[in-house]
Amino acid sequence: MALITKKIKGTEDVLPKDSYRWQFVEDIMRRESQSYGFKEIRTPVFEHTELFARGVGQTTDVVQKEMYTFNTKGGESVTLRPEGTAGAARAVLEHALDNEGLPIKASYFVSCYRYEKPQAGRLREFHQFGLEEYGTQSPIADAELICAAQSIFDRLGVRQLRLEINSIGCPVCRAEYHSALKEYFEGHKDELCDTCISRLDKNPMRILDCKSPVCSAIAKDAPKIIDYLCDECKEHFASVRTYLDAAGVRYEVNPTIVRGLDYYTKTVFEFVTDFIGAQGTVCGGGRYDGLIEELGGKHLPSLGFAMGIERLLMLMDKQGIEIPKPSGCDLYVATMGENAVVRAFEIIKSVRDCGLVAETDVVGRGLRAQMKYADKIGAKFALVLGENEIEQGFASVKNMKSGEQTQLALNDTFAEKFSVLQLAYSDSFKL
Ligand code: ATP
Ligand code: MG
Repeated sequence: MALITKKIKGTEDVLPKDSYRWQFVEDIMRRESQSYGFKEIRTPVFEHTELFARGVGQTTDVVQKEMYTFNTKGGESVTLRPEGTAGAARAVLEHALDNEGLPIKASYFVSCYRYEKPQAGRLREFHQFGLEEYGTQSPIADAELICAAQSIFDRLGVRQLRLEINSIGCPVCRAEYHSALKEYFEGHKDELCDTCISRLDKNPMRILDCKSPVCSAIAKDAPKIIDYLCDECKEHFASVRTYLDAAGVRYEVNPTIVRGLDYYTKTVFEFVTDFIGAQGTVCGGGRYDGLIEELGGKHLPSLGFAMGIERLLMLMDKQGIEIPKPSGCDLYVATMGENAVVRAFEIIKSVRDCGLVAETDVVGRGLRAQMKYADKIGAKFALVLGENEIEQGFASVKNMKSGEQTQLALNDTFAEKFSVLQLAYSDSFKL
């Protein structure tokens, strides 16, 4: 029969043989962010469209072109989340988490949906890990956040990932900057793309982030925000740099970074690599002091970052970073005859109860094929169970690597004895 359907363009499956790579990366992200004091938040995959329009920003590419928005049967407009911050911020407000003490430090794993042109490193469904910190204006928080991202990359063994930082100021310094930008781009109005012409009045900074080659060429010589920072923003940026220096985190100041979302203020940063082609930004983040107010809350200065898990895995792959494979199978119980199948079922249950991985035949293979299969799945030990073994109450457990055999009684203590054997084996294995 022909396939009913194929996966949607721009989406990917993670198959059982590969999921350990995701789990490894996620484990490190989880553990590392815990050491920095972040606790996980989980929010829905869809939200009211209004949340992203307000939170991400009306003039952004994400809101203007990329959102998966639809009307529900009840006539509400909902959107699949294009990023993780807006949902987290909404939850912080809805549950008044700021009443429980500041700062609020949250981490998240989310699937994101953006209607973009699929290509290497650019998907329509992709995954992000992110950190969020609400209720602090201290530059220590900016540095702490950047350090947390750097620590994750270090733990994963990722190399040659450039940290680029910038400050895009606050509404005070931006007013003057906007007029300078507007004046500059007005001079190139004939060459700009239609979207950018519409941005000229509403948000000229967005033009700096346009992906069209013509617009980005013009943007190269545009005035730089860093030359327009007010005293407070200048001081904040200098302090962030002092803390990063103190932590030994290396960075470059890149005055062209503005980030793709509207809510950023002051510090912005990206981790960029040349290893994975054009979509080389693995992590992006910064401060968004106005976001919570934009969503109807009080002034709650905040910051965060998101890293793209697919791009990170691509990078690790390109750099040949080996991800340890979890142990395949500790014990395979091969069976001959009806009685043996029942006894094997008991045995694997008791071995599994000890926290080990045990398997037996479930597809009706002959003995030889079972042993071949045990080898294929990397079983460390195998036990052959037939009428004789059951009658005598003993069976030999074979070390599949050395061929060595050990007799174990098939009684209630089998699982414990096997655990000890397995432990001894894993110790000698490590040596
Ligand atoms: P880009 O400039 O590459 O479009 P962005 O500025 O839109 O990125 P953010 O919204 O900051 O990206 O998202 C943070 C991270 O999520 C990115 O640095 C990237 O690693 C990842 N990411 C963003 N969009 C995609 C996508 N369509 N497919 C895969 N990963 C993505
Ligand atoms: Mg984008």
